[in-house]
Amino acid sequence: MYQQLIEFVRDHYQTTAFIPLHAPIFNGQERNYVLETIDSTFVSSVGAFVDRFEQEVAAYTHSPKAIATVNGTAALHIALKLVGVENGDLVITQPLTFVATCNAIAYCGAEPVFVDVDRHTLSLSPQAMQAWLEEYAAIDDQGICRHRDSQRIIRACLPMHTFGHPADLEGIMQVCEKWHIALVEDAAESLGSLYKGKHTGAFGLLGILSFNGNKIITTGGGGIILTNEALGQHAKHITTTAKQPHPYEFVHDELGYNYRLPNLNAALGCAQLEQLEAFVAEKRALAKAYTDLLAHSSLQVVVEPEHCRSNYWLNAVICENQQQRDELLKATNDAGVMSRPIWQLMNHLPMYRHALKGDIPNAEWLAQRVVNLPSSIKSQ
Ligand SMILES: *Cc1c(COP(=O)(O)O)cnc(C)c1O
Repeated sequence: MYQQLIEFVRDHYQTTAFIPLHAPIFNGQERNYVLETIDSTFVSSVGAFVDRFEQEVAAYTHSPKAIATVNGTAALHIALKLVGVENGDLVITQPLTFVATCNAIAYCGAEPVFVDVDRHTLSLSPQAMQAWLEEYAAIDDQGICRHRDSQRIIRACLPMHTFGHPADLEGIMQVCEKWHIALVEDAAESLGSLYKGKHTGAFGLLGILSFNGNKIITTGGGGIILTNEALGQHAKHITTTAKQPHPYEFVHDELGYNYRLPNLNAALGCAQLEQLEAFVAEKRALAKAYTDLLAHSSLQVVVEPEHCRSNYWLNAVICENQQQRDELLKATNDAGVMSRPIWQLMNHLPMYRHALKGDIPNAEWLAQRVVNLPSSIKSQ
């Protein structure tokens, strides 16, 4: 079966050379737009491509506002600050995620609380969140949700749409509403993914996307905050050093950050965005081909949840057990066909080992079994 899979991937990419897990591709206007910024000298924090990129991403995701940032982690940091996450607060998230999700929580001086994921979405489970809250939380006289033992405020919930598969957003929103917890979405991996027809990242008070080199489209490095008009204005302000407009004076009216996406990167993003729907279509076709190929094997391809359109950013299979996972990783990587295990659980990392958590059987089960397969767009 491993040999069949290796041959399928080589045939798909029409090469016997090394095949990466995910490589960017620049077949559109990338070169022209980037050269335009160089010719104009506007390569840095001011320029037309930043505004255009923000407007186009806002339109694509149907978000009132989109604020571009230097990377997705910075976008997450600001999104959490804007829902009031501060020193000593708790933020509910999933243990099965990329470390940036938790790091952004820690940058605010807050701590993650890990609740389990669902096996079919690979993302935060509303049932697990509800169960943890019932056991450990209460709403105080002021309507604030607190961890009962420590009285720390449970300020936000930060689900992550794993590999582009939307989490159970309706379920999560219900739990957030019931417990007065703000929803922020880590949609870093899910540009192009829809939940019941609406773009991921547009459900929470804020959501973020990443345009790192390995994501579905790239700006080199970059991210964006999706939110409403008022929070969007504030996000723009504090990601640009919180400077008040003035003809010549430097007036900064609160703690600001230098998180603005350079125009050079935005130019690349504008060119990539023009190809996004074609990329999603190709990824979905590849996912279908993997699913057909492995239909009668012991590897289970992760497919989009019901009522969702996944971007299938990274294709993933669930192995029968850890031994099969290790065999698959060895066979493919030895053959020059890159595959990778899913991340280690965040609660195993030294920084987050002491964080609060619920029972996480699904996260533990998946962590031993999930492998990502090559998912790049073809260069032809
Ligand atoms: C890529 C990614 C981010 C943000 O990454 P940056 O490299 O900072 O753009 C955040 N969360 C998840 C889950 C990611 O995959």
